[in-house]
Amino acid sequence: MTENRPVRPEPGRHNLDPHLDRYAARTAGMTASEIRALFAVASRPEVVSLAGGMPNLAALPLDTLSAQVGELIAQDGLVALQYGSAHGIPSLREQICEIMALEGIKAHPDDVVVTVGSQMGLDMVTRLFCDPGDVIIAEGPSYVGALGSFAAYQADVVHVAMDDHGLVPEGLRAALAETRKAGRRVKFLYTIPNFHNPGGVTLAVERRAEIVEICRENDILIVEDNPYGLLGFGGQTYPALRSIDPDNVVYLGSFSKTFASGLRVGWVLAPHAIREKLVLAAESATLCPPTLNQLIVSRYLSTHDWMGQIKTFRENYRERRDAILSALDQHMPAGCSWTKPDGGFYVWMTVPEGVDTKAMLPRAVTARVAYASGTGFYADGFGSRQLRLSYCYPTPERIREGVRRLAAVLESEMDL
Ligand code: PMP
Repeated sequence: MTENRPVRPEPGRHNLDPHLDRYAARTAGMTASEIRALFAVASRPEVVSLAGGMPNLAALPLDTLSAQVGELIAQDGLVALQYGSAHGIPSLREQICEIMALEGIKAHPDDVVVTVGSQMGLDMVTRLFCDPGDVIIAEGPSYVGALGSFAAYQADVVHVAMDDHGLVPEGLRAALAETRKAGRRVKFLYTIPNFHNPGGVTLAVERRAEIVEICRENDILIVEDNPYGLLGFGGQTYPALRSIDPDNVVYLGSFSKTFASGLRVGWVLAPHAIREKLVLAAESATLCPPTLNQLIVSRYLSTHDWMGQIKTFRENYRERRDAILSALDQHMPAGCSWTKPDGGFYVWMTVPEGVDTKAMLPRAVTARVAYASGTGFYADGFGSRQLRLSYCYPTPERIREGVRRLAAVLESEMDL
């Protein structure tokens, strides 16, 4: 089979990659994320970056952590620096179960597999379930890293719209009926129910059982991705889909947003029947997640007021959310609309007809503000009138200044 191989450049067009003929067919769908490409320009100090979703870690107790890491190595170094099991260390898996209980999940530590961030969970789940040409249903827009994994396994994504209350059940029914009619095999629904990235909305509690039921009726698995669930600005949590249907939901969790993203510790809670295959997939990918990092997380959870720390994170993010929403109200021209998140990192904005957010981006960067244009969050090229604003990282003043600059760019764009 050669037809799926990466396309050779047309005669006369130069391609510097001498390995072009060698790549596997699956690399054809691998493209650089628009957001990653932006990082270099957006990180220049004069640019207010509302583009990336980097957690704001300034509130972490670095002195305590550094003392703890030192102790860990001094007391337990030969374990901490050694290989471990692909499944993850047992004490951490137990603590993860206690965390998930906050969202109504009853889980056994044996069914938790520790991963290198939830991104690895996404990759493993796609690897386990998707053959080329299989369909994954996902919200439109959806998380760019998930779309990257789906593309790497040559799965096709069918998007279902969200409204202010999250994924629309009627839309899900219609998408399932259409894909079935087209003779396509749907493997799973990928959903981010809480404080959506990039949508900024949360799935209404009343819709949760209905969505679980639709997936049951249609015999498709749910992959529930929930890195932001404990970052509700009022301290509120929502019942996980996994708590409603434990046998049909693969749940992905992460310490990236509630503790430290650089440690790269996340987890998958699988239905019991899937767990064994998941451990094998994890083993073939990484042998085991980093032992030291798992021990750091485990010790942090057992010795630190981690709930208090999450509250501090939430307060920082809420202050920034307030800053962005009031600046948007104050500065944005008529015809723009945006979501109003109750937690998490993101506002999703729609701009007036005729404005193309991807084409506008270089002009915005020249005006010293960066955002993520909407097309990166769709698998099908949609999203040119949308953009994502991340308020998690800059200070409230910088956020206000960034929004002011963006509004000015939009206004001149509308005059064109
Ligand atoms: N899922 C979603 C929805 C995310 O926003 C992110 C990070 N931005 C991830 C998964 C991956 O997180 P990590 O690998 O750091 O756990």
